[in-house]
Amino acid sequence: MKTIGLIGGMSWESTVIYYQIINQVIKERLGGLHSAKLLLYSVDFAVIEECQANDEWNKSADILADVAKNLEGAGADFIVICTNTMHKVVPQIQKQISIPILHIADATADSLIDAGIKKVALLGTKYTMTQGFYKEKLIARGISVVIPEEEDVELVNRVIYEELCLGVLTDTSRNQYQRIIGDMKAKGAEGVILGCTEIGLLINQEDSSLLIFDTTQIHARVAAVEAIS
Ligand code: GLU
Repeated sequence: MKTIGLIGGMSWESTVIYYQIINQVIKERLGGLHSAKLLLYSVDFAVIEECQANDEWNKSADILADVAKNLEGAGADFIVICTNTMHKVVPQIQKQISIPILHIADATADSLIDAGIKKVALLGTKYTMTQGFYKEKLIARGISVVIPEEEDVELVNRVIYEELCLGVLTDTSRNQYQRIIGDMKAKGAEGVILGCTEIGLLINQEDSSLLIFDTTQIHARVAAVEAIS
């Protein structure tokens, strides 16, 4: 079995889910007392969030590259970054290590293609929804992407940082997300990417009028399968 190097803590609320899913999949596949071989390096999210807010992406890339180098040195065979947003700096991190990074948007695109989705709604941080680094991966695979209206981008983003990353789950925010998913369905989306690793804590399939693609579930499952293939 390969050793997974997890970069977590962004936020720790979703890193916990990665740890659970990876171990559940290993147990399902191998049975008995099998569990995942993994290293978890959990960062201080306040430091990373400050870099994001101050547009200091190179600084955050250096922090995460140091973490990745540590994981490689400790014996990780591949890296899993437990957040969508910080995949913005994957190219800078990858340059500094010789083990692969299992990209969350590639794993999600595979899942969308398997489901025959051609047009998808994307929920995530404002960086993930409005910038190119994530959407381009989907577009390159022939999938078109719908994002919320400008004021809803702000709403979705605020809920992530001020509620979900702090473990706060409210009916008000769930209802607002449901309404926004409905708006994107009206624009022709056939499914919705929960493109922030905490959204799955708030929205389940029964809350959504569109088929959900929960990036935490998808990414963690792909990581577990990779570890035993
Ligand atoms: N976990 C979130 C994501 O998947 C947001 C936190 C972050 O900015 O990394 O994008």
